[in-house]
Amino acid sequence: MLDRFNRKINYLRISVTDRCNLRCLYCVTGDKLKLLPKENILSYEEISEVVDVAAGFGIDKIRLTGGEPLVRLDIVKLVEMISKSGKIKDISMTTNGMLLESFARPLSEAGLHRVNISLDTLDPEKFRRMTRGGDINKVFAGIEAAKKHGLNPIKINCVVKKSSDEPNASQVKEYCLKNGLQPRFIRQMNLRTGVFSTVDGGTGGNCAKCNRLRLTSDGKIKPCLFSDVEFDIKEFGITRAFELAIEAKPERGSRNHKNVFSNIGG
Ligand code: SAM
Repeated sequence: MLDRFNRKINYLRISVTDRCNLRCLYCVTGDKLKLLPKENILSYEEISEVVDVAAGFGIDKIRLTGGEPLVRLDIVKLVEMISKSGKIKDISMTTNGMLLESFARPLSEAGLHRVNISLDTLDPEKFRRMTRGGDINKVFAGIEAAKKHGLNPIKINCVVKKSSDEPNASQVKEYCLKNGLQPRFIRQMNLRTGVFSTVDGGTGGNCAKCNRLRLTSDGKIKPCLFSDVEFDIKEFGITRAFELAIEAKPERGSRNHKNVFSNIGG
């Protein structure tokens, strides 16, 4: 489906949970993380219904994200439900990789095509500090498992302050080259102030080419990451919420005061 600015909208990012097993410094900002009440989180049946309606609007690309998608119980079941619908050409997931070693095989068997894995440094101690407690060896094991089970192409999301020439990012780039992984360098964004730029190695951040909508874990369709506008599927119904979100998709992102990355999904 085309929006008002003739952009073809075919990509839906679904945040399956606002919970995460890490607390990355740039993602979980502010003093206290407010989690959604569990009863507000969409069930897999509800998410599948959204995917069916979305497919009717021309969505053929889905990314599962969060929070951390792998901490949601039975996430493999959701992948299987989406895959079995036969309506989505490209099913991917963004994960921190901490649990990927054991999930890579069942996810692949359930129909997941590929993964993006977040990795901002190769230094175990820095990684532990940046993620507030993460074990980088688990990420490396997750990457190996993703390779083994064909979740290709494997992209590595690396958040940088300014550019991919920074020491942490240069090391990540070299590691990716050696290991057949595709790095994407994402300049640290600020939802509140509207600071964002294009992703080096990816398609994000380019408003003129934006083909995305987002579904929050509590059922709101958001036309833009950098906007407070959202349409609740429980209030409007799924079809109308999609229509409204496509109509309201802004030409450019501005600011978002309602969400943080951990609840909207990156
Ligand atoms: N837990 C998963 C993970 O860590 O990949 C998925 C969710 S996370 C919010 C998705 C992506 O958002 C990650 O690649 C992360 O690097 C990115 N992200 C989070 N906060 C960001 C910020 N302030 N600026 C740029 N990217 C950010």
